[in-house]
Amino acid sequence: MMTKFDGKIALVTGGNRGIGFAICKGLLKAGFDVFLVARSVDEGQEAVQKLSEYGTATFIQLDISDDSSIKSVVEQIEKKTNKLDVLVNNAGIYPDEGVDILTVSRELLIRAMNTNTFSPIELTQALVPLLEKSQSPRVVNMSSGNGQIDGLSANAPSYSLSKMALNGATILLSRLLEPKKIAVYAMCPGWVRTDMGGENAPRSPDEGADTAIWLATEGTMAQSGKFFRDRTEQPF
Ligand code: NAP
Repeated sequence: MMTKFDGKIALVTGGNRGIGFAICKGLLKAGFDVFLVARSVDEGQEAVQKLSEYGTATFIQLDISDDSSIKSVVEQIEKKTNKLDVLVNNAGIYPDEGVDILTVSRELLIRAMNTNTFSPIELTQALVPLLEKSQSPRVVNMSSGNGQIDGLSANAPSYSLSKMALNGATILLSRLLEPKKIAVYAMCPGWVRTDMGGENAPRSPDEGADTAIWLATEGTMAQSGKFFRDRTEQPF
């Protein structure tokens, strides 16, 4: 069955498990072709195999915190397509076990910032030339309630600050990409049962993926630069 998203192409980071895997599944079901980015070759290939019943997913190996591999990924994508419709910056880490804002090390702060903030910025920069060639390009940054001013947690200092900075990056990117009609959103998936969220979280990965899929498929330019949860705008 044809859908209005046939021929559309998305790239999702951290697609091998958790919310990223569910986003890949949802976009494939909607009709997108998906580049599934994962850093483990075995896990990336296994995820693509599991998704094959829903559509065409192509595995791309990438550690998002590595500059040189971001460059090589763009070259790999350009060999297969001349445009990108959707970028979902989903991959992230929560490295704050047993620390708080009074004990967190500089090394840990840098690690969280590097993966959760700097990598989405750099990947977006690298993919702008391909996004520009889409008719309705959209970037979805997977943030967190911990990145909202009212949700900052002293017991998750590096994670909270990295997601707050990702929210800031979303605002800045949306401003500079507005003339190119590239929309940039930040969002929180809620508390989701994944390796990161733990088994007591109330939401399934599919439920956590819902707002990302909605923004990727229906988000407007008027919503660019804003923060969402449950398909609803929230304060930063
Ligand atoms: P998860 O199950 O721990 O999955 C994290 C994903 O990110 C994995 O695919 C992981 O790859 C990937 N990743 C981490 N560092 C990477 C790197 N340097 N290069 C490439 N991939 C990397 O977590 P999740 O719950 O699905 O979280 C997905 C996103 O949602 C994250 O940004 C998280 O902060 C956000 N979020 C989650 C919750 C929740 O309750 N779960 C709540 C709010 C926000 P590997 O398998 O190789 O480690």
